[in-house]
Amino acid sequence: MRDPRYDILFTPVPIGPVTAKNRFFQVPHCNGMGHAMPLAHAAMREIKAEGGWAVVSTEECEIHPSSDLTPYVEARLWDDRDIPALALMCDKVHAHGALAALELSHNGPTASNLYSREVLLAPSHQPSKYGYPSQARAMTQHDIREYRRWHRNAAIRGKRAGMDIIYVYAAHDLSLPMHFLQRRRNRRSDEYGGSLENRVRLLREVLQDTKDAVGDTCAVALRFATEELLGPGGVELAEAKDIVGMLAELPDLWDVNIAAWYNDSVPSRFAAEGAQEPFIDFVRKTTSKPVVGVGRFTSPDTMVSQIRRGVLDLIGAARPSIADPFLPRKIEEGRIDDIRECIGCNICVSGDMTISPIRCTQNPTMGEEWRRDWHPERIPAARSPRRVLVVGAGPAGLEAARALGQRGHQVSLAEARRELGGRVTREARLPGLAEWARVRDWRVGQINKLANVAVYMDSILSAQDVLDFGAEHVVLATGCRWRRDGYGRSNGLGIAGFEDSPRIFTPDDLMDGRLPEGRVVVFDDDGFYYGSVAAELLRRHGCEVTYVTADDSIAPWSQHTLDYRHIRKRMAELGIQPIVSHNITRFEGATLALENVWDHQRRELPCDAVVMLTARVPDDALHQDLLGREAAWADAGLRSVRCIGDAEAPGLIAHAVYAGHRYARELQEPVLADVAFKRHFHTAHIGDQSGDPSA
Ligand code: ADP
Ligand code: SF4
Repeated sequence: MRDPRYDILFTPVPIGPVTAKNRFFQVPHCNGMGHAMPLAHAAMREIKAEGGWAVVSTEECEIHPSSDLTPYVEARLWDDRDIPALALMCDKVHAHGALAALELSHNGPTASNLYSREVLLAPSHQPSKYGYPSQARAMTQHDIREYRRWHRNAAIRGKRAGMDIIYVYAAHDLSLPMHFLQRRRNRRSDEYGGSLENRVRLLREVLQDTKDAVGDTCAVALRFATEELLGPGGVELAEAKDIVGMLAELPDLWDVNIAAWYNDSVPSRFAAEGAQEPFIDFVRKTTSKPVVGVGRFTSPDTMVSQIRRGVLDLIGAARPSIADPFLPRKIEEGRIDDIRECIGCNICVSGDMTISPIRCTQNPTMGEEWRRDWHPERIPAARSPRRVLVVGAGPAGLEAARALGQRGHQVSLAEARRELGGRVTREARLPGLAEWARVRDWRVGQINKLANVAVYMDSILSAQDVLDFGAEHVVLATGCRWRRDGYGRSNGLGIAGFEDSPRIFTPDDLMDGRLPEGRVVVFDDDGFYYGSVAAELLRRHGCEVTYVTADDSIAPWSQHTLDYRHIRKRMAELGIQPIVSHNITRFEGATLALENVWDHQRRELPCDAVVMLTARVPDDALHQDLLGREAAWADAGLRSVRCIGDAEAPGLIAHAVYAGHRYARELQEPVLADVAFKRHFHTAHIGDQSGDPSA
């Protein structure tokens, strides 16, 4: 079964008073469900435990109303009434022999308190982190004692909920023990400020408090950021080494990474697997306690190397456990090819950022475990297998074909091109996006194992071809193409002359290898990754590139995926000139006319070609043809035709994969009325609104 090379990944690791059954550790990760959707949250964590993770953690957990993270939805332990939600998670995690871990956090000046309306707390007076028009106040010695009491009480509540590991959090620039370490946040002159010994004092006290409170049965972990990449105002590696030396044996486990979140969960476009090693590899040499760290690890060979080389004792993962909750089980069972590798797109992060339940490009069941009862590995078999034709082998068509095949249908997948993968294959050739091909590779690998799925490449199907094919159900996943005519958010009537101009390019041209030369403007009306990727491609091709957007910021949606700062840095390094708050109005001769969207001032740019990222047109002609010939369906034996993915409404790759999966799940299943998924309601608690925690 298991390759003996990987045996080391399955040896137990003692962590204080508890033992992890193997070395796979799902570190804390946000999920947008938290305290608001406890059933959905518990079911998601249970799937990780079932998939073989030895430790399954919560996300950060608020310990007091003065650390209210509204509008973000995280875990919560303000008083005893919050215990049952986390007890539910613990029970489900324990049912599969895994340990449950709780990441306690008081976010100080990085909280919002928008719901609780408490005054923010911080080591010293300072602005709140997220631009709210309010400041945090300096904590008094009394406040510090109170904070320690809240933390101790939350640890005890965590233990009562059934948690096996309780975290003290000093990472991501998100918690008071870290804020006390940072010179830029801690300007105190008492025994909690100034010297390193003083700045470490609170962290040491909270670790000791937690050990005293729950350390008899719970392990106490320290999540610690070793570097912030901010210079002397932030935690720096040299000082972090001293801190690890000072506290080396105090926690039962060191969980180490770099801060802030955008430096920790770096998109694959900007960091490879294991990229944090140079920042954390000293820890293992400084302490005798086990060390866990992350690095978007999906390769068992890399994991083994981390352990053999003495970098880590436990393989930490957030994203790899989201993309494939069954990663440990697959390694254990010798099914390496079945691992659904994370592509590093950070759509999972966007769930938390947009205050919505977590979604994953690779794993369409993520966040749907409870509300739709979707399991990442199992789908109910088809009631009676049908002949299904899938047209188009992009992410939507590949996932539909794979999941239909898994259910036992007789599936034919027809693709016009000589390659599979659709947009994923094409986009993966662009700078930095190579790992996105994993969306295709995993699905093609699975399809190749299914005798009931036949794949036909180089097969452009017409409506007549489809009718002649003899399928009972047809699903069209024919994708979309980028518009050339300027139509989009900023130009609702398009731009005159663009549609037919040879000097107007679209991303499809770039992906077809048709690149402009000379002075190029990339007009980004899309706002996510594509504009900066196109600009990078053309800059590397030798063009002089100006990036123009009508938005006030470049690539605004990339904030949600933690790409933004990395994009800005790369554009600066490559010498790509950004112009914001400007729309394109005209392109004549070698001059592009721009207009400021606020004061309507005009300016002109010398320009040879423009790349337009505005909007996309669904390739739904085949769908429309088939709808027009509905009268012929019955004779052809055709019962249903559906259009999904970018051919229905262009979106993210994650939307296309989800659409393909959902189609396969729902084919032949009874359609639920109106609301097709479970929701959380608060009606059960309406009788208990006294505000008294003992009620
Ligand atoms: P999605 O993101 O929805 O999966 P893609 O654009 O990635 O969409 O993939 C659509 C795929 O469908 C492309 O590979 C394209 O070549 C293929 N395709 C489009 N029209 C046809 C057709 N009439 N017959 C067969 N394949 C088609
Ligand atoms: Fe990985 Fe993307 Fe899934 Fe996040 S959404 S786990 S980055 S594949």
